[in-house]
Parts: sequence; C-alpha cells; structure tokens
Amino acid sequence: MPTMRQWGALLALCAIAMIAAYGCGRKPADVDATTPSQPESVELQPRTIPVFCYHAMEPDASGTYEVATEDFKEQLAAMNEAGYETVTPTQLADYYEGKAELPDKPVCITFDDGPSSILTVSKPLMDEYGYIGAAFLISTSVGGEDNLSWDDVRELEAAGWDIGSHTACHIHATRVSGEKCAEELEASKATIDDEIEGECVALAYPYGLYDEETLDITKDAGYRIAFTIDRGPADQTDDPFLVPREMVVNGNSLRTFGRWLAQEKLHLEEIDPPRGHRFDMSTPQITARLADDIAASEIEFTVAGKAIDVDVAEDGVTLTLNPELSTGANIIRANYWGSPQRETSWVVVCDAD
Ligand SMILES: [Zn+2]
Repeated sequence: MPTMRQWGALLALCAIAMIAAYGCGRKPADVDATTPSQPESVELQPRTIPVFCYHAMEPDASGTYEVATEDFKEQLAAMNEAGYETVTPTQLADYYEGKAELPDKPVCITFDDGPSSILTVSKPLMDEYGYIGAAFLISTSVGGEDNLSWDDVRELEAAGWDIGSHTACHIHATRVSGEKCAEELEASKATIDDEIEGECVALAYPYGLYDEETLDITKDAGYRIAFTIDRGPADQTDDPFLVPREMVVNGNSLRTFGRWLAQEKLHLEEIDPPRGHRFDMSTPQITARLADDIAASEIEFTVAGKAIDVDVAEDGVTLTLNPELSTGANIIRANYWGSPQRETSWVVVCDAD
C-alpha cells in the first residue's frame, strides 16, 4: 500500500495530468488576482471547504469546549450523508499552492490543544467513515494529564493524520512581542518536527488571534498554512495563512452544524486596512469591496454583537465600515442570512486606551 505521502504525490501527478489533458477550466469570478500566495500560472478550481475546530470529546460534555460524543457521531454521519470527504491541512496547503486539486466536497476536521480523546474517542468514530483529521498540539503540553503522548501523536500520524502546531505555550499572539511570538512558533515546530516522521506544516493560532505581524512570523517560521477561528467556510479566495474554521462547542445543535456545512463564504475583497491590522484609534474606517451578487443592505455587520455603521457607495459594492472598537482584539463579523447563508469574520486589534 502506498503511504499517505505517496498518495499525495500520486494525486498531485494525476492533477497535473488532468490539467494537461483538460485545461484548467474557467477562472472563478471571485478569485482575488492579487492573492500573493497564488502563483500566476495556476488557477484553482473553486471549492467551498467547511473546516471545523474541535477540542475534547466527552460522553457527558460539561465544559464549553467539550463536545458530547453522541453529538460528534451525528455530525460525522451528517458529513458522510452529504458526501463530504476529509482533507488534511497539508492537502489544503497543496491546493492553495496550486500543487494538487481537492475532492468536490472537501471537509477538514481539526482538533486543538491535544486532548487524549482525539485518539481514544474521535479517531475511532472517524475511522468508521474513513475520515482523517488534524491535531494541533501545544508542544509543551504533550504527555501531560489527559493529553496525547508523543507515541499517541505518532499513532495518529501513522494513520494519515496531520500533526500541526498550536504554539509551545498557547500564547495570545496579539498580546506578546514579535520576538516571543517567533520563539513560540519556531520552538513548537522544531519540537514536533523532531518527534514525528513527517513535517509540521500547519499552525492553528491559539484563541484564533493574529495580527499582520503574526502572519509574517508564521511564514518566516516555515509554516505553509495557518488556521484561525474566523467564521465561514474556506475557499479558493483565502489567504492560506488566514484559513477560517467554525469552532464546534458544547450544545451546538445538529441544525446549526448543518447550516455550517451548507453555507458559503461571504466575499469581501480589498479590505483596507487588511485583516489583522492594528489600529491606534477606537473608531477607524475600514473599506472593502463586496464581491458576491447580493445586496449590501442585506448584510449584517457586527463587532462584539453591536451593529456596525456601514456606508454603501453608489456602485453598491464599495463599503465603508465605521466600527467602534474596544482595546485589544476585536472580531468584525459579516452575515448574510439569505439562501445560501454566507458568512465571514476577521480580527483587528485596537491599541488605543
Ligand atoms: Zn487552543
């Protein structure tokens, strides 16, 4: 049997052969041609990719970040029923880099913090559907109580799972110095690279926090892809260092989960200043271009649950947001409740007191 890595290489070869035989197809209208990670010669086939972020599984989930085992079973059955095939962060990185295509209905299932239930509960349930996932480890916590050991981690890897970093000590990237952030990202990757067969190519930002400097540090540390907990599915328009994930928590209904599976990304392009910007004022202006064929007036923009004042230019697609920010990290959310529902969000930081 070929290993996962060999399968990856085979798939990449098949993709190249298919592109050679059939051409690359139509370029999707909403691809931002300025996305720096997208080589000019490669055109990505559009894909909507729900990415889920889980933590521990418990039969009787009590904490917010624990998901009841029965709920997880139902969620897996829903994904399988709808025809989803799991893809790993490495496969997503290959896709964004134009090296390999994704299946028609990809889904990415990730787990943060490295609880032992990934191996004892989540993996056996996923195995029933041939699903594989990704574990984002806090490198200094591996081997701790109720956490995966390095042997467990290697067992996951041997089964095809991706092993990613969730930093060394679960830092708040927007609160620590650039130097500290670099140290955390580099040290955790080095530790994981030492312990596993393959390479740690993916990062999940703890608390979903990032700023513009974090993204540069992540690239410099040698990661190929990084995950937030921004809202909405991933798709070909993403910055590979800002891949969104829906976090599944205790009590999310199957209906909510189904909505996340079916929704699409809300496309705001040319966001200026960009995602992750640090503002030195609490009432900044952010401009963006609406790239979906929906009315701007039907989008609900909020920050911390409060409506954002939005001006729509005469062209109907140039938006000016005037959010009221709190000191620290703020999440700007945009929701369209039509059909299909569309969603996106991003982090900005306010340094003003
Ligand atoms: Zn975490």
